[in-house]
Amino acid sequence: MARPNIIFIMSDDHAAHAISAYGSRVNRTPNLDRIADEGMRMDAVYCTNSICSPSRATILTGTYSHVNGVSSIWTEFDYRVPTFIDVLQGSGYKTAMFGKWHLGEHGRSLPKGFDAWTIFPGQGDYVDPEMIDENGTVTVPGYATDIVTDLSIDWMDGLADDEPFCLMVHHKAPHRPWIPDEKHKHLYADGLIPEPETFFDDYETRSKAVRGVHMTIADDMGADDLKTEVPEHLRGPENREARMSWKYQIYMRDYLQCIQSIDDNVGRLLDHLEETGRAENTLIVYTSDQGFFLGDHGWFDKRLMFDQSLQMPMLVRWPTVIEAGSRCEATITNVDFAATFLDACGIDPSAELATSQGRSFLKLLRGETVEDWPDAMYYRYWEHDDPIHAAPAHYGIRTADHKLIYYYGAGLGVPGSSDLITEPEWELYDLNSDPAEVRNVADDPAYAEVRRGLEAKLAEYQDRYQDEPYVGPRTPRPEWGPYDFELFERVQQYVETVRSSS
Ligand code: CA
Repeated sequence: MARPNIIFIMSDDHAAHAISAYGSRVNRTPNLDRIADEGMRMDAVYCTNSICSPSRATILTGTYSHVNGVSSIWTEFDYRVPTFIDVLQGSGYKTAMFGKWHLGEHGRSLPKGFDAWTIFPGQGDYVDPEMIDENGTVTVPGYATDIVTDLSIDWMDGLADDEPFCLMVHHKAPHRPWIPDEKHKHLYADGLIPEPETFFDDYETRSKAVRGVHMTIADDMGADDLKTEVPEHLRGPENREARMSWKYQIYMRDYLQCIQSIDDNVGRLLDHLEETGRAENTLIVYTSDQGFFLGDHGWFDKRLMFDQSLQMPMLVRWPTVIEAGSRCEATITNVDFAATFLDACGIDPSAELATSQGRSFLKLLRGETVEDWPDAMYYRYWEHDDPIHAAPAHYGIRTADHKLIYYYGAGLGVPGSSDLITEPEWELYDLNSDPAEVRNVADDPAYAEVRRGLEAKLAEYQDRYQDEPYVGPRTPRPEWGPYDFELFERVQQYVETVRSSS
């Protein structure tokens, strides 16, 4: 059989609970649902560092942030770290990438391994965006989501029928500041979007670290986000709840309108694949770089290890391989994507991308059972010196039943933040009895044995991925800047370790 094509559609900050295939209470996404209906809905896919650039670097390289070096949105990607795109291109695949790159746009951080690429600088703009390609920067008229789809379709149309390809379609939407296009502005305007069950969370039992984040709809969502000022009668602490509800409707209206354009454009891409006869042998993925809080726990944004932020939606269609309407509940992370895509193309990832820490889940896509598949995932958030969000440094482990999180107290030195962490703190959630994650049982004696088991598993996973537990002293991280060469040395050490052990 001919080698399959891969189309990897990734949006930015699109939470699974805003996709109707995942049971959304707030919107309908008929075209994304098509992928699920005709393929597989993956229910336990998680990002290993819930923020834009790190997730992207992880997907390309199949490695954790501490290995690929992209630990925050301020670290640029270094072209010397091997990617699955390099491997595909080297094996005769045509490769392209359109849309949000967000891994740096100068010199060594530009996209590499792609036969064609056109990217937004940084976060990019929604309307008439600037875009960069090999010839420089131009302003492209139109709406970002339409433009990225147009570029993708045009590029596919220029390929010969028998040329296998890998196409990365990276939407800027629905990232902040949530600017919808004209044709979707009538949607969700009635102010009746349901609020989540944890909207008025009082954070009782939760860590001080979590209570101090600057991600609340009530107090941290500003006029730039809302495109309007908060009216006089909703200001002040006594009007907090009414203000939250008012802001939530505007926030969600704009966010969901942006998603509706993605849904339309995914439909356009699916139709084009059918019309050109490529649908059967194309593995098409829809995902997002991480999840997002949609008013859950009173928050917007991501970063924390709570499920709304941690989970990546992942819908996969590949008619010759995946059974229509199937489901997968195995625990998978974005570290596993690179190995899986290579495996799907008939390439041995352990030989051709030896630096990958991921494991191919191709068998799971085929509906096979894998007896020794990992029953947990390891997470670590590094961007704790960001004064805007004041999200604490933490790592943790998630199994199907429990989640253990360690806020290790490295939030020192956050300029402008009054929420400095002084002592390390733990959170433990029982995901069966408390799926909303509102009851921290870390110090509940009834969970002492569970906690011991999870702490052991956390240590095991840190060791497996060659990350190091935080032991202090609690010193601030180095200044943000371009690429962190100290981390790159660790990448090289890791490559050497892998090579010498294989
Ligand atoms: Ca993102």
